[in-house]
Parts: sequence; C-alpha cells; structure tokens
Amino acid sequence: TPLLSTRHLVRRFRDADRPAVDNVCFELYRGEILALLGPSGCGKTTTLRMIAGFETPDSGSVLLGERDITNVPTQKRRIGMVFQDYALFPHMTLAENVAFAMTHLPRKQRHARALEWLALVNMAELGERFPEELSGGQQQRVALVRTLAAEPELVLLDEPFSNLDAGLRERTRKEMRELFKKTGTTVILVTHDQAEAMTMADRIGVMRQGRLLQVGPPQAVYREPADAFVAEFLGHTNLLEGEAAGLSAATALGPISLNTQAHGPVTLSLRPEDLALVRSEDPDSAIIVDREFRGHDYFYLLARGDSRYCAIVPNHDPLEVGARVRLQTAGEASVLPDEGRSQTQH
Ligand code: ADP
Ligand code: MG
Repeated sequence: TPLLSTRHLVRRFRDADRPAVDNVCFELYRGEILALLGPSGCGKTTTLRMIAGFETPDSGSVLLGERDITNVPTQKRRIGMVFQDYALFPHMTLAENVAFAMTHLPRKQRHARALEWLALVNMAELGERFPEELSGGQQQRVALVRTLAAEPELVLLDEPFSNLDAGLRERTRKEMRELFKKTGTTVILVTHDQAEAMTMADRIGVMRQGRLLQVGPPQAVYREPADAFVAEFLGHTNLLEGEAAGLSAATALGPISLNTQAHGPVTLSLRPEDLALVRSEDPDSAIIVDREFRGHDYFYLLARGDSRYCAIVPNHDPLEVGARVRLQTAGEASVLPDEGRSQTQH
C-alpha cells in the first residue's frame, strides 16, 4: 500500500473563481521522492498544506497508510515540513537545534544522535557553532537534518532551494537527494523549477490551475507529456500539427516517427534535441534567427514561413545567424493526447 494517498482533494478560497486545488489524487510510496511541479499560483503549496494539516480540504481526503488523517491535527501526523525560510533557533548551537527535534528520544541520547545526524551531512565538527556562523546553504542543511531527526513518516519541502544562489542550489539538490536515499526518507518536494524536479525526483506531478495533469518518472513526463502545457513546462519543444498513420505522421517538416501509434490529425511535441540542422540553400529551407551558446551546445531559433522552431545541437561546427538550413528530425515526436482531437489508437 502507498505511504500517502490524496483522494479528490479540493480547496476553494473565498471569492476565488476557481478552486486553488481541484480534485488532486496521487499516491506516494515509501522511500520515494515526488516533486509537485507547476507555475506560481497553481496550488502546490495549498496541496502541501492540506497534507501537513495546516489547511483543511473542502472535500476529499488524505490517507497515511490506511489511516484517514484528513482531520488529524498537524502535530499528530508525523509529517515534517521544511519551509523556505528554514528558521533555526539563533540562540542554540547546531547540535542543540537538531537535538530539540528529537522529542521521541530520551533527553540523554539526544546530543549524541544530533551529532550523528550532522555527520550525515558532513557537519559533525560544526555541532557547537551557532547558526549565524554558517552560510545560507549550511543553515538549510541543518534545518533539513533537524526535520529528519524527528523521524517523520514523510517530509514536505516547499521551494527549499529558492534562497540559494544557482551554483550552491545545484550542489545542495544533489546532496539532499543522496541524503534522502541514504536515510530512506519519503519526500514531497514543491517547486516551479523543472530542472530541480527532474534532478531530485523519482516521479514528477505536473500541476496547472489547481489540477494535477500528469504524474510519472521524469523521463516519462519529458518524453511522453500528457498535453502541450506539460510538454512546454518541462523544457523547450516544437509543437507540430500532423496527420498520423500508425507510427509516423506527415508534418510541415516531412514525415516524423512517433513514440506511439496514432491515426488522423494529431498535435506532436518534438524536443529541440531531436531536430538536426543541415546547411541547405533550398528555397524552402529554414533560416537561423537567433542562437545562444550554452557551453555544451547551441540553442537555435529558426524561422520557416510563419513557423518558428527551436533546435539544440552539440557545439562543434556552429551555424551562424542568417544561415539557411534544412530541418531534419533526429528522434521521435510524442503524440499529445489533446482533448478535442480525433486521435484514435489501434
Ligand atoms: P503555488 O504554491 O503553486 O504558488 P498556492 O497554493 O500558494 O500556489 O496558491 C494557489 C491559489 O490559491 C493562488 O491563486 C493563491 O492566490 C490562492 N491562495 C493561496 N492561499 C490563499 C489564502 N490563504 N487565501 C486566499 N487565497 C489563497
Ligand atoms: Mg507556493
């Protein structure tokens, strides 16, 4: 059985024209890291607050194991939440901060256990320091360890890295993922940053306007997005109209292989890394209108007639702005199961 299930969670705030959280259902298994990903205002925090017990759903339920905890007070849920502003107690040492959370242990054992927890993030020797002596990243790690030290069933993180600068954020993500895996912690991470969701999570749930649109492993939501919004939120893409016949579709770029069988009119998502550019003076070739050097590759913007395309190409042999190129597909497009589309599967 899942560790956590949300069943048809709905939360509508007064005066709002649509629910902040609209029929959200998902399951989370022990040891798993799930990212709730979506733009600002899509209902991520409200979902998390209902799971934590800070917010009561208008309808729907939250189950921890088989127990319905929808109306159980926060402090009895055994759920740990780390907030963006990770406030440590300034007058306590790091070890004291961590020990403070261990109310489940006899007082005498807490200090030694606190140092063990700090050792897990390579900070044991800093145990007698005070928070103000640490960098933001270090404080964030201690705040997390303090949450883990209470041995919650589930840890909730709401945009935990948004106060850290870019380089530190990347390192912290990796360290935290390792820490969660090492300790077998079950986690829900809320973020609007697709790179963060992809690198941290075992599964990603993409939200929009209160709804959970798709839940799946990072590769699946990236390669097989449920709709155009998911496709575009997870990275750059080319949305193409096509006429499918089995595993291939006719499009403005010529025939394209599909990731799944389809027939009739379809909308396709073709990732920029699945487009290859071949120099060509052909009258109907595309023209490079912009390019961005990104170290390991170039990101190109192309125009052909009224259509715009994007392509990502490894950085050897770069093409210059103004060059004419033929757009050649170098990978499969995914079929978007768009509503209103008469796409049939055989
Ligand atoms: P996210 O965390 O994805 O940015 P939130 O869950 O914070 O989104 O908010 C979802 C929607 O609910 C937003 O439109 C927000 O303005 C609204 N909202 C959130 N909390 C409250 C509240 N306490 N009262 C009224 N509206 C709220
Ligand atoms: Mg939020």
